[in-house]
Amino acid sequence: MKPNPNPLLATGLPRFGDIRPGDAVEAIDQRLQQYRDVITRITADPGKADFASVVEAETLADNDLSTTWSTIAHLHSVTQTPEWRKVYPDCLEKITRFHSERSQNQALFAAYKQLRARADFDQQPAALRACIEHELLEFRLGGVDLPEAERQRFADINMRLSSLGNQFGNHILDATEAYVEKFSDADELAGLPRDQMDLLAGMAENAGESNWLANLSYPAYKAVVTYADDRRLRERFHRAYVTRASDVGPLAGKFDNTPVIKEILALRQEQAELLGFASYAHLRLTKRMADRPEAVKDFLLDLSRRARAQASHQLQELADFAAELGADLPLAPWDLAYYGEKLREQQLGLSQEILKPWFELENVFTGLFTVASELFGLRFVADEGVDTWHEDVRYYHVEANGEIIAGLFLDLYTRPRKAGGAWMGICRSRLKIGRAEQQPVAYLTCNFAPPAIGKPSLLAHDDVVTIFHEFGHCLHHLLSRIDLPGVGGISGVEWDAVELPSQLFEGWAWAPEALDRYARHVDTDEPLPHKWLDALRADRQFQGALGLLRQIEFALCDLALHSATSAQDPVAVHRAVHERVAVSPMIDDNRFLMGFSHLFNGGYSAGYYSYLWAEQLARDAFEWFGEQGLFDRQAGEHLANEILSVGSTRPMAESWKAFRGREARLEPLLEAYGIDRAA
Ligand SMILES: [Zn+2]
Repeated sequence: MKPNPNPLLATGLPRFGDIRPGDAVEAIDQRLQQYRDVITRITADPGKADFASVVEAETLADNDLSTTWSTIAHLHSVTQTPEWRKVYPDCLEKITRFHSERSQNQALFAAYKQLRARADFDQQPAALRACIEHELLEFRLGGVDLPEAERQRFADINMRLSSLGNQFGNHILDATEAYVEKFSDADELAGLPRDQMDLLAGMAENAGESNWLANLSYPAYKAVVTYADDRRLRERFHRAYVTRASDVGPLAGKFDNTPVIKEILALRQEQAELLGFASYAHLRLTKRMADRPEAVKDFLLDLSRRARAQASHQLQELADFAAELGADLPLAPWDLAYYGEKLREQQLGLSQEILKPWFELENVFTGLFTVASELFGLRFVADEGVDTWHEDVRYYHVEANGEIIAGLFLDLYTRPRKAGGAWMGICRSRLKIGRAEQQPVAYLTCNFAPPAIGKPSLLAHDDVVTIFHEFGHCLHHLLSRIDLPGVGGISGVEWDAVELPSQLFEGWAWAPEALDRYARHVDTDEPLPHKWLDALRADRQFQGALGLLRQIEFALCDLALHSATSAQDPVAVHRAVHERVAVSPMIDDNRFLMGFSHLFNGGYSAGYYSYLWAEQLARDAFEWFGEQGLFDRQAGEHLANEILSVGSTRPMAESWKAFRGREARLEPLLEAYGIDRAA
């Protein structure tokens, strides 16, 4: 037999140096064909279906597909050449089509049901049982269990929802660009600092105009409402922004999302009812840690009750400060960011820039690896022999007890054609089936400014927090002890809890005991003075209760819209929630919902609360570490045993209880936002 020349089909770590975009489609086609063959074998002879011939065979086929696809997806995001941009959507389309076809395969569903019904099911290992339960739930939520006519209706709704989501997004894009103001005299923009003026000048240039221009894109809108001294200008931008894509405001009715939202909500409710759920929120929460909408509502309302007094106080403080500067009271919505920024400058005046010498990149990584070493006994050993996609990329073997257990790729610097932002990605998942074995490997990708030649790389504190956050996701993946990738690491972990490890690790970027170890001045080796750490923390908490109430308002609004069992006026729902929890002013015409992409063109429907839910867990867990010792090995082992290593083989609510010994509490979260714990 001829050895397979396509490097995307090779075993082991990706051979980045050999892979060409032209290999991608062929490799995906082959993987999909192998996977389809496996499914055909499973469904051809249902009588023979057993745990190995169904779950293990599918797991191996899925792993082959995932390893090939993750390499393609990764190379596409870190080297966005025209060639990669061309083949990526082709591959994605094939995979999406395959998954949708598989999710509607009734014979495969029957095979899983048969495994679940076996008398020896309960004696199977936890990972195998979890795998089967997850698959069954996915099949059911995909409508495969419905009678034929309803199944067809369910599928049609999916198609319609996908096109409505697109339409919703396009309306926002169009509305964002359609509202434009041009400025020929810098005085019209008095108050904007230099960098914000440059931003608006750049927008004018891109539009083929001279001087300055602003539309409703978030950076432009933010520059105007935060800094423009001209109150009427701020008011115009605020009104235009909160009425985007709606029936009111300067472009009333032009890109109106009102009917789009109403149809989306009605169709989601119809799907929920087809599957036997009371509401769409009930449907979505079957795969979450918060198991009922009422639990989420209680959580959010409790939080809002305890944040409200402090938020009112912060608003009053802002009004007093604005009055001293000659503002007309009461403050209008377009005054909040403007005076807020002035108050922040006066109270804190902290610049991230002056702290950078304490956050030299190598020191930060030494700190990061020290945390991992003390808590989990891990050692990160650089290996320059491993093939990468760019000379700046580093690879580390992760060792525990002298043995290699995992691997980590670090790609830290921004480059042309590399996607922006910071993220953790899966390269290989832990797998052990028979003789097939694979260790987990993660990608940690950031976009820091590269250092000048011969100069050290200095980070802003925000960047340090980002590294710890993404590293938390990496550890969740790398410390897996589960043999089946579908339920190991972050796979299958409830969506409202998957940010627990990442947000927890941010704690080590803020704690004095931790910073003393790694935040050392690049020239003098002096530790970071605690007064500056205090200033950083004060900056984080500035108007914390007001910010928290805003998040609660969005989350409650999302929940109310998606737990309603009959048609509602979305704007009226938003207004009722605002009146119940908010303290900040809002204009009567506010149509914020019409631009709320998270809910109508993103994955956050009935899920916006997840940010706060996971943060509650993370803050509570970090407080526990504070009690045990931030570098306590036993505490680290406990976290690894109960949460990081178990993946989704049991519900997070159980893992949490096993870890913390009780339900999560709000107090540490309140404190993080500068709210009195006794509130
Ligand atoms: Zn994250």
